[in-house]
Amino acid sequence: MELIDPRTFLVVANLLGLLCAMVLWVQARSFPADIEGLYDWAKAVVLMACAAGLTSLRGFIPDAVSIILANGMMLFGELFLIFGLLRYTGRSPRWRPALDAIIGLTLLMVWLTYGSHSYQGRLFIMSLAHISFFSLGAWLAWRIRPAGFGNKFLTSVFVLGAVVALWRLTTLTMSVREADEIFDRNLIQQIYLGAFSLGILGLSIGFILVANERLREELEFLATRDPMTGALNRRAFFVRADIEWARSVRSQRPIAVIASDIDFFKKVNDTYGHHVGDLVIKEYVKRASGMLRLPDILSRFGGEEFVILLPDTGLKEACLVAERIRKEVEKKKGKDKSLPPFTVSLGVAVAHSGLRGQVDFPDLEALLAHADAALYRAKQGGRNRVEH
Ligand code: GH3
Ligand code: MG
Ligand code: MG
Repeated sequence: MELIDPRTFLVVANLLGLLCAMVLWVQARSFPADIEGLYDWAKAVVLMACAAGLTSLRGFIPDAVSIILANGMMLFGELFLIFGLLRYTGRSPRWRPALDAIIGLTLLMVWLTYGSHSYQGRLFIMSLAHISFFSLGAWLAWRIRPAGFGNKFLTSVFVLGAVVALWRLTTLTMSVREADEIFDRNLIQQIYLGAFSLGILGLSIGFILVANERLREELEFLATRDPMTGALNRRAFFVRADIEWARSVRSQRPIAVIASDIDFFKKVNDTYGHHVGDLVIKEYVKRASGMLRLPDILSRFGGEEFVILLPDTGLKEACLVAERIRKEVEKKKGKDKSLPPFTVSLGVAVAHSGLRGQVDFPDLEALLAHADAALYRAKQGGRNRVEH
């Protein structure tokens, strides 16, 4: 039974692959350099596409090219898939064992082509290689972060590839009757080749999806974070705080803010230099963050001034948190002994919502102003203290 000439599949795979490789190449060039692996994927797709192209020329060109070189390119293509995944997930690939394995497999293919003339043997070896590469690919793709549609899609394509190769392996004995020189035109082989051309497309789409997800995450991080400390910036704070404010009004749960400012910070800068000043600010974020729960939001409002939003938190609890931060900062500890000791003043304010929707502060700004006033009193009262 014949659906389409197998050559057609391979030519389609070749053209699709080259187009996909072009897209990946453009992405690799324009994406931030810390998103690694894209060039490997582009190379992989080119190699696999060319392997398909050479295979489609079986009978017109020497077997050494259409079989040995084509299979060799296919194996290298699969290797680059794995290398790209390793680099993308922050690991560095090792060439040596991979090269040994591919050279070994290629020698085996030479023998199966010219020595034993075993078409089945070749299919067997290549299917085994595909299963190994695709299973490894599926495992690596599954571990890609951020986990999203992209990595699930990519994992599925790898799993499908492995399943198709496994299926090809198990149907080997019942399907091969034709001679080596002509194309195997049975249905199983046609589905195999069809899956192969779709596979190149699927893998390329998967790579593009995961790379875009990573890019989106990086851009989101850059847009919402203060680059020095990693704390939320002011704009991102208000986006999240507005949501929490609305939630607290709806659920009639209290919501607290803590305004904080490092004491005599100008003196730190003057005495130890701006660089040490920066380190002190980072150390403050580290220590303060360690005292917070997951839903609490720490934001850098400017210089050495930070605001913390504590959803679902009453006055007593908020003052306890502020006091814990104050004590934690005051402690003469930290692995970095080169940092000078420093202290922080904090002002606490809490908003309560009533049954009929009335709130003791008209909006978030008013609550923040109250916390600021408390902070001012803490400074006036001698610093290194909490006021509310
Ligand atoms: P107070 O106890 O009243 O808060 O005294 P202070 O010296 O800390 O006064 P203030 O809060 O007004 O000082 C802020 C200083 O922080 C002024 C500015 O030079 C410095 N500053 C602002 N941003 C940065 C920064 O990113 N790095 C460093 N090293 N210093 C900064
Ligand atoms: Mg200060
Ligand atoms: Mg200040």
